[in-house]
Amino acid sequence: MSFQDENPGAGVPGPVPFIDLTAQYRTIRSDVREAVEQVFESQAFVLGEAVERLEADIAAYCDSRYAVGCASGTDALILSLLAAGVEPGDEVITSPFTFFATAGAIHRVGARPVFVDIEPHSFNLCPNHVEQAVTDRTRAIMPVHLFGQCAEMEPLWRIATRHKIPIIEDACQAIGAEYRGRRAGVLGTVGCFSFFPTKNLGGAGDGGMVVTDDTEIADRLRRLRVHGDLGGYNHAEVGFNSRLDALQAAVLSVKLKHLDNWSAARRTNAKRYQELFREHNVRSGIEEPATLPDRRHVFNQFTIRIRGGRRDEVMQFLRQSGIGCAVYYPIPLHLQTCFAHLGYREGDFPESERACREVLSLPIYAELPEEHQQRVVRKLAEAVQAESTLSFPGTADGDRRAA
Ligand SMILES: *Cc1c(COP(=O)(O)O)cnc(C)c1O
Repeated sequence: MSFQDENPGAGVPGPVPFIDLTAQYRTIRSDVREAVEQVFESQAFVLGEAVERLEADIAAYCDSRYAVGCASGTDALILSLLAAGVEPGDEVITSPFTFFATAGAIHRVGARPVFVDIEPHSFNLCPNHVEQAVTDRTRAIMPVHLFGQCAEMEPLWRIATRHKIPIIEDACQAIGAEYRGRRAGVLGTVGCFSFFPTKNLGGAGDGGMVVTDDTEIADRLRRLRVHGDLGGYNHAEVGFNSRLDALQAAVLSVKLKHLDNWSAARRTNAKRYQELFREHNVRSGIEEPATLPDRRHVFNQFTIRIRGGRRDEVMQFLRQSGIGCAVYYPIPLHLQTCFAHLGYREGDFPESERACREVLSLPIYAELPEEHQQRVVRKLAEAVQAESTLSFPGTADGDRRAA
């Protein structure tokens, strides 16, 4: 077979994928295979040595006393809520602008998600609103470090201390992120991570981890993940089957060594986008993600806002041009059908609702080629500049928006 047969599109720029996990795998293939082979040789597949090693490494990475592996980020949230003492009928304050699992976990333990609006610049929980939402039923605050940047924690610490309620961090998108020099996961009582393959530290399937400094909570987490077993088939409470597989742990231990380099590459890509936005004059049509000075952003997502109510059009144009992009998230959680019983309405959280209408995430993975970034921004410029032409007075701009 000739070279050309294998590359029918050679010379023509192919699509720009939103994320390409194979690019990363190619750089660590032999280490991953060796680690996986060792697990097969041991035939110890659930918990065990490989998991304990990863737990110790993650605890060291985050500077926490304990780390407890479990089956997913969602389970990390559920187990944490229970281990922190949240019970049916309790209230947990969180953000409506996040992945579904944040509020899903609160609901799953029988508690009520109490939503408060976000800060527009960071997309994270607004501390002022949190204070107002505290009642005598509040049993936890669950900030989400969305897209890889930590929420504003200091005011939350004050609220948590004053009301004696734990903070459970949804750090699923933020492993390695920092707030004033401390890592995500140790900014509250308990921190939850996800190893879903597209997270910054992604396994070969589902996986999760909880970190904490609290001995009692750590012990309870270890019981809850094995049916509440106290040892010797003694069960004081009903738990779950939510354990981390040794195969996942082995893969994750290999990848953890590279995590800081990958996060640095994501930050470099983010910086390059910002330079390209300037170069291609797209800044008038978009808002760039804010990177706050007292934080280390790890860019699980690079999320811009599209101005002028044209997000869906711009996204469609980019996709038709072969540029991968995505909306995280299109529907705020207070307006999800399954949470109708909570009684929220449209207009309750205007910033979260506006974010859902305006956000667009662009490719940001560590191995993203520079040439792809240039093509993303060139196409984005086309889309945004088409907008400024179309929105001259006397055009059908108003009609188009209503359509
Ligand atoms: C990914 C994610 C979760 C859930 O993690 P899973 O491992 O997919 O269960 C929870 N919260 C946030 C913010 C996430 O991004």
